[in-house]
Amino acid sequence: MTTSEALSPAAPPIERQTTAGNYFVSNYPPFSFWKPEFVPEARAALQRPPAAGTPLGVYLHIPFCRKRCHFCYFKVYTDKDSAAIGGYIDAALQELALYASQPMIGGRKANFVYFGGGTPSYLSADQLRRLTDGMKRLIPWDEAAEVTFECEPGTLTSHKLKAIRDLGVTRLSLGVENFDDHILEINGRAHHSKEIARAYEYARELAFPQINIDLIAGMVEETEANWRECVRKVIAMSPDSVTIYQMEIPYNTTIYKEMKAAGKLVAPVADWETKRAWVAEAFAELESAGYTVGSAYTAVKNKEKTRFLYRDRLWAGADLVSLGVASFGHLQGTHYQNHHDFEPYVNAIKAGQWPMHRALTPTADERLIREFILQLKLGQTRCDYFLEKFGVDVRQRFAQPLRLLGDWGFGGVEDGVVRLNRDGLLQVDRLLHEFFLPEHKNARYA
Ligand code: SF4
Repeated sequence: MTTSEALSPAAPPIERQTTAGNYFVSNYPPFSFWKPEFVPEARAALQRPPAAGTPLGVYLHIPFCRKRCHFCYFKVYTDKDSAAIGGYIDAALQELALYASQPMIGGRKANFVYFGGGTPSYLSADQLRRLTDGMKRLIPWDEAAEVTFECEPGTLTSHKLKAIRDLGVTRLSLGVENFDDHILEINGRAHHSKEIARAYEYARELAFPQINIDLIAGMVEETEANWRECVRKVIAMSPDSVTIYQMEIPYNTTIYKEMKAAGKLVAPVADWETKRAWVAEAFAELESAGYTVGSAYTAVKNKEKTRFLYRDRLWAGADLVSLGVASFGHLQGTHYQNHHDFEPYVNAIKAGQWPMHRALTPTADERLIREFILQLKLGQTRCDYFLEKFGVDVRQRFAQPLRLLGDWGFGGVEDGVVRLNRDGLLQVDRLLHEFFLPEHKNARYA
């Protein structure tokens, strides 16, 4: 028996059924380690001059939706009237004005902008214009390389899409999720298949530089036949990029509440092996149609032209001014999140206070782990990058988890590049925990 066999478990931890909990790793260290007592560190970062060469992004969370999807774990509201939405726009602009008055942010231009939610396209064309005109006055977008806007197909008219295009949006991201009306309905989605086709046609006519379609593999009642049909339809539409998530059931979802009430531990969705097989099949079909798989979740039609700047900048430590309820930002090494609920957020702004709720300044080692695991989601990352930026050889720093990845048959290091094979890439989120510090393993991502 070799030393490696003696130390390595024979296989990665068993995980078959979809049980409750967050699967997706979106940041590091886990959010449960971010604390209100660290908020002054984010405020102190704002007093410093900007770090040379660090790009600035602006994110705005728009927490309104027509209906709450049964699998949704985001902070969203389905009951706000236009006065409340108008008040939220005012609050977001006041929040941005606070940032623009700080030494670290004032005078800088946005390199990338992201409208997420929730449903940004829930806002009317007039509300969007007022919001974005105000934002541009505070932090200009004229040099922004990417402006992303998430949409729910049923909220899009030709008039609203024209307004969105006129704002300077470069990537329109359509939350399609599935093309079958029964599956959309039973999962609580607000839109129907006809609205997908109509919205996509309008968007194409307006020549958005990039149109992305989001799909979810493994929605409630999804079958293999349905999934194949979804993949066939998305390829027929030929969007610039396709994003595919495997269905997870976090604790604050309607599906989990129903599971709990019925005393069930396993969610009524496909198991992980099935979801991975479906995504593998979708990626293979997309590749046959000329797409390139660029991460665990994305395939792009033209890899020279189509980029995900927001993702790549954030995963490499960009500054991110994050506005709105529950949004996550990053200021020169300190992470922060705003108040989780609408009223505390709006009330803080009205009182002229910062709406930050919790923060964390990771150590240099935690920053290294963060960038390394997030970049592994791309399927490959260069050792040189970490040597130059952190002065650390990741082959040594992560010798043990890298050996495990190799022993389990998911990838390894070759020619200075850490690579995951397709099998590893499709389960990257659970493999990333092997790179966590011991105190962060098994922590809840909430
Ligand atoms: S549209 Fe998106 S944000 Fe809104 S409820 Fe559904 S999943 Fe949540």
